[in-house]
Amino acid sequence: MTEPLIYELSKPGRRGYTLPRLDVPELEVQQVIPAPLLRSKPPALPEVSENEVVRHFVRLSSLNYHVDRGFYPLGSCTMKYNPKINEDLAKLPGFTHLHPLQPEETVQGALALMHALQQFLAEIAGVDAVTLQPVAGAHAELTGILLARKYHEDQGRPRSVVLVPDSAHGTNPASVTLAGYEVRVVRSTDRGTIDLTDLERNLSEDVAVFMVTNPNTLGLFEEEIVVVARRIHEVGALMYMDGANLNALLGKARPGDMGFDIVHFNLHKTFSTPHGGGGPGAGAIGVTAALEPYLPVPRIEEVEGSWRLTYDHPKSIGKIHGFYGNFLVMVRAYAYIRMMGPEGLERVAEDAVLNANYLMERLKSLLPVAYPRRCMHEFVLTGKLLKKLGVRTLDIAKRLLDYGFHAPTIYFPLIVPEALMIEPTETETKETLDAFVAALQRILKEAEENPELLRTAPHTTPVRRLDEAWAARHPNLRYTRDPSQPQG
Ligand SMILES: *Cc1c(COP(=O)(O)O)cnc(C)c1O
Repeated sequence: MTEPLIYELSKPGRRGYTLPRLDVPELEVQQVIPAPLLRSKPPALPEVSENEVVRHFVRLSSLNYHVDRGFYPLGSCTMKYNPKINEDLAKLPGFTHLHPLQPEETVQGALALMHALQQFLAEIAGVDAVTLQPVAGAHAELTGILLARKYHEDQGRPRSVVLVPDSAHGTNPASVTLAGYEVRVVRSTDRGTIDLTDLERNLSEDVAVFMVTNPNTLGLFEEEIVVVARRIHEVGALMYMDGANLNALLGKARPGDMGFDIVHFNLHKTFSTPHGGGGPGAGAIGVTAALEPYLPVPRIEEVEGSWRLTYDHPKSIGKIHGFYGNFLVMVRAYAYIRMMGPEGLERVAEDAVLNANYLMERLKSLLPVAYPRRCMHEFVLTGKLLKKLGVRTLDIAKRLLDYGFHAPTIYFPLIVPEALMIEPTETETKETLDAFVAALQRILKEAEENPELLRTAPHTTPVRRLDEAWAARHPNLRYTRDPSQPQG
């Protein structure tokens, strides 16, 4: 099944609306809009009836796999189901009709909400101050490293190196490089956690920051984190926590208590903003009191009984986004945290970890677990043994689509060959997890009996296997009606 473009559904003169009769004096358009600004030709808009528009977009929405349709075990990304009530709240006109340039006295409620959210996040992470301004995890990482740079400059030396474990998400080294630091990789042990000996080898007064994900991208808790933090602080460096995996810790353990100085939150992963379509996100960061002066402006402060956006922070790194970030993401996070309460948030962590361990136990006889230990909210399998059948992890991922499941994250983390990284999240039932196990069981049987079926999968999706390399090398994103032109 494919869906034509809405332009292809267009018929001249077809309308999806009727306007009331004009009840004001008719003006020539030139009397309202200056002639140089007028088009010479009408725009080429599609002409379709209302039900055609609705059906077109409903059909399009179901061509794509999404979390409202089924299980989405994409590790690292936390593709959980988010309560729809938070969408309703974020759509309230009192929020959506705000303008960022409105006078502060007319947006007191919004500022109070943002301030309260900062306090909640500070409490959750065990830090002293929070900014909501960064708009993604990667953006938060960059902001965090820029804060650290300013801090070290104030100490008299910016230093030159940021340490990153070999299991890190790709955005970590990218953000570090963008902030002007050299990345140095710290190896993992064969238990999947930071190798303290390799850390010692890399430690020096040139190190500005150690950027750690905890639990790490193998889904393992860094048990030595307190020792690591102490060693890092002994050389005057700072601890940064990539908090994309905060689901696993909510209400149970706090990065600040582990010795982290900076931590980011992916509000769009942990706190109820749906993501995956590249929509707006928010990468709030929390810091210790020593780093607070460097946070981006504006900050939200109470001045003489009302909320103000304050800019008078001389040590601040400045602005890192237009206005103060993606406000409606903050509304969802605020509503979610209020709704869940401390006990609800703790249940998130418990259920996320329970679901992951249940799934890992059920799957470990099908595919080897890369680091077979009790996991946190996610775990990593390896498909390396299937190579002898001529089947790759990519083929399993594609075949899962035929069984109605989104694929797990594949080929990440890089230290696991043919990796499948699975994060069930706290929002799935046992029945869903069992159905996923059954699908993988059947697929692995197919791998032995008919590997070609996997290599050519998916077979039932609207679009079959794509040549991703070709698409990347020949991007053609422009629609043209001319059938002789190549279509992107
Ligand atoms: C998602 C993720 C990031 C990046 O966050 P974005 O919001 O996608 O920029 C960084 N680290 C880890 C471990 C992640 O899962």
